[in-house]
Amino acid sequence: MTKEEIFKADDEFIMHTYKRNPIAIESGKGATVIDKDEKSYIDFTSGIGVCSLGYGNEKWAKAIYDQAKKLGHISNLYYSEPCVELARKLVERSGLERVFFANSGAEANEGMIKIARKYSYDKYGEGRSTIITLVNSFHGRTITTLKATGQKHFHEFFNPFTEGFRYAEANDIESLGKAAGNDVCAVMVELIQGEGGVNPLDKDYVKAVADLCYRNDWLLLIDEVQTGIGRTGAFFCYQNYGIKPDVVSFAKGIAGGMPFGGFIAGSKAKDTLGYGTHGSTFGGNPMAAAAANVVVDTLTPEFIESVKEKGDYLKKAIEAIDSPYIAGVRGMGLMIGVGIKGKTHAEVKDELQTEGLLALTAGKDTLRLLPPLVISKDEIDRGLEILRKVLGRR
Ligand SMILES: *Cc1c(COP(=O)(O)O)cnc(C)c1O
Repeated sequence: MTKEEIFKADDEFIMHTYKRNPIAIESGKGATVIDKDEKSYIDFTSGIGVCSLGYGNEKWAKAIYDQAKKLGHISNLYYSEPCVELARKLVERSGLERVFFANSGAEANEGMIKIARKYSYDKYGEGRSTIITLVNSFHGRTITTLKATGQKHFHEFFNPFTEGFRYAEANDIESLGKAAGNDVCAVMVELIQGEGGVNPLDKDYVKAVADLCYRNDWLLLIDEVQTGIGRTGAFFCYQNYGIKPDVVSFAKGIAGGMPFGGFIAGSKAKDTLGYGTHGSTFGGNPMAAAAANVVVDTLTPEFIESVKEKGDYLKKAIEAIDSPYIAGVRGMGLMIGVGIKGKTHAEVKDELQTEGLLALTAGKDTLRLLPPLVISKDEIDRGLEILRKVLGRR
């Protein structure tokens, strides 16, 4: 198909739920992708934080191919090696105890909500089911995770939403105190709000939240769908904060592009979801698990250190740009937000794209950068060159 044919068929046959960028990506290698016109782009999006090993990774592709030939799917009615291996590694890397496998971020968070409510129901009975989440958060697109999302405009059109969520201001422990009550069973947070604008929570605040959760026997649920699996220069972002959640969710980067996700519970809730209380036909799929094993094996301590170093390098270099358009740089590791003023974030994203750099937007005024974790120094430098050209003083 030509590019024009693709645009036309997309318009005709696919629901108009996305505002796509007017390019059709055909292939990629490392952190570089190529479109239908054979124009190449440095990719600072990695498919929204998914393609952690970049594009065309041989080990990743071979693992999927080999597993597809051997056994592409079998269901959770039978034991299977790839997901067991992966679960063992995730338990080791997280310091938590037991894993449930799902297929996406929203589904992983939906499962965390279920585990929190059942933990409380088992121990305290009815009436303790409210989950406090943060203003400006994003937790997914199902009816329940939309309501968990602390942004009003996500609470439209689809009534009735799931009840049992209250919202507190991020980095404001008093606001959390006001949202508290006898009906609360858990607090759910992203440590760096991703879609909301790359807003990291303060260390002291997170420690205070963890402490409040512990004292009230609320489960601390951390949504690491975007921040997890090496993205922030730690295997899980909570390791940067020196705390441990009761349950952590993961998805985006876990399988390098295969649809996958899940959550890991610590000692409190490891047995909460027993036989028949939760399930998924595709969850733990052998091909996705094989891909995830390659991702997790790649994330050695040295590799994760390199993510931190590359992130620091990129962040410092952006901070050093003499620009009338930059209003601060935030983030950790290779999850970086650039505040934009004097233009819209979308205008900047479009200009970067024209120059050959793919970037994301977030919140109202933030350019969000999530390069593949394997991005080379040379690719970072070429991306920086384009950022300087578009954002720098002329
Ligand atoms: C992307 C994202 C989700 C939703 O994940 P899907 O796979 O799109 O369902 C949930 N939480 C956070 C923090 C995210 O970044």
